[in-house]
Amino acid sequence: MNLHKLLLTKNACYKAGRTITVKGIMVHSTGANNPNLRRYVGPDDGLLGHNPNNNHWNQSRPDGQQKCVHAFIGKLADGSIATYQTLPWDMRGWHAGGAANDTHIGFEICEDGLTDRAYFDKVYIEAAELCAYLCKEFRLTEKNIICHSEGARQGIASNHADVMHWFPKHGKNMDVFRADVKKLLGGANVAADKNAPSVWAKDAWTWAKKEGYLDGTRPKDNITREEFAVVLKRLEEKKK
Ligand SMILES: [Zn+2]
Repeated sequence: MNLHKLLLTKNACYKAGRTITVKGIMVHSTGANNPNLRRYVGPDDGLLGHNPNNNHWNQSRPDGQQKCVHAFIGKLADGSIATYQTLPWDMRGWHAGGAANDTHIGFEICEDGLTDRAYFDKVYIEAAELCAYLCKEFRLTEKNIICHSEGARQGIASNHADVMHWFPKHGKNMDVFRADVKKLLGGANVAADKNAPSVWAKDAWTWAKKEGYLDGTRPKDNITREEFAVVLKRLEEKKK
């Protein structure tokens, strides 16, 4: 996964600033033929490229609508694929048009003309990696992942077809997608932000650093027996 961050701080959704307890992930695709991230994410950070129409979603009401998602997957200016996080993961997004906004992280895959298999394969893998990363962050499983059309059937999202109007054109569907995320969760090869603690561990991590038990580095690494001994000694000395 090629994860970047550009929060859409001018979007009314970001300004509303509500948080949610994350219980699932909703996969969307944009419904428009434009695979370039700069259509949706801006301003240009040097990688996205310039959007001459200035119609990206970092404005109060993009396209005149109340909408905002947690991430986009699409093309950078150089044609490579990237994920841009656009809202804090536990901020309430405006992506589902239904109750899923209160529970689900929502991200958009930028659609192209829907027939390019090479582009599809790349964004599909990127989406699976993003989901595996988020499952680890929020202690979810692949079973907690749905697409917009599945959410509509469950009555928690508006009546949209994404992503099932696209994935089957390339031999995939949401069951296959969930199985692929499960495979990633079973292996070690899931990219994560190694320099930041997981959301569920953040409070304890900050406390342990403040108290001097841990030095605050390498939150995702295993602890060795000698490091454990050092922590024990610090605990003991603190009692005196
Ligand atoms: Zn959607």
